[in-house]
Amino acid sequence: MIGVFIFVIGLVFGSFANVVIYRLPKGKSIVRPRSQCPSCGKNILWYDNIPLLSFLLLKGKCRFCKAKISYRYFVVELITGLLFLGLYLKFGITIQLLIYIFFTLCLLIMGFIDIDTYLISDVIVLPGIVIGFLCAIFFPQMHYGITRIGSIWYSFTGILVGSGILIFLAMVGRLLFKKEAMGGGDIKLLAMIGAFLGWKCVFITIFFASLLGTIISLTLIGLKKKKIEDYVPFGPYLGLGAIISVFYKGLLFLGFFIN
Ligand SMILES: [Zn+2]
Repeated sequence: MIGVFIFVIGLVFGSFANVVIYRLPKGKSIVRPRSQCPSCGKNILWYDNIPLLSFLLLKGKCRFCKAKISYRYFVVELITGLLFLGLYLKFGITIQLLIYIFFTLCLLIMGFIDIDTYLISDVIVLPGIVIGFLCAIFFPQMHYGITRIGSIWYSFTGILVGSGILIFLAMVGRLLFKKEAMGGGDIKLLAMIGAFLGWKCVFITIFFASLLGTIISLTLIGLKKKKIEDYVPFGPYLGLGAIISVFYKGLLFLGFFIN
């Protein structure tokens, strides 16, 4: 029952995430004004703004002008709902649940903005590094059964390892391919991931990000949706890898305990 409740809260936050993904890169306020149809400019009525349901009832079209609404709104809401539910099943009602809901929601918003604009928003990742580190100070339980000093050290090394690895890879990439393989945004993003998850999860994140990045890119090239020389933003894969890593906390990964 609580699970259903958390899922619904997730849907509402998913709706909010959609607004942020759409408005943040345009520099618009995320609180005001009310949402409008991008096509006809009419205000979206409150009962046409119910997560998942409204999209299905309106068959993905604007009530007034019948312009198509991107199915992505629906997908983002559903993903957020499932994410909230998954985190609840993993952590129960704990402070970890709140911390990792906040963290994964930031990653989700960051990832979709990166897909749209090829930019990782500093407005999300820079405060994210600080907030992750503060959480490690005030809520050491987020790193499973280590002391406060241990928790601070764990996040601190997470930030160092996270940013360090990508700076290293960026240098290797420049030497080998004579071009930028990794943006500065990715470095800040992985520092944020390290702050929230600690250094061990940085490695799990990179493992899954590279694996999924390779599989999905090859699939898209196979389906002729992308060409080999096309730019592929790595941020969304890092975000996806980090979300997977959250679920490895408190478990063994390749024989290592992930705290
Ligand atoms: Zn319209």
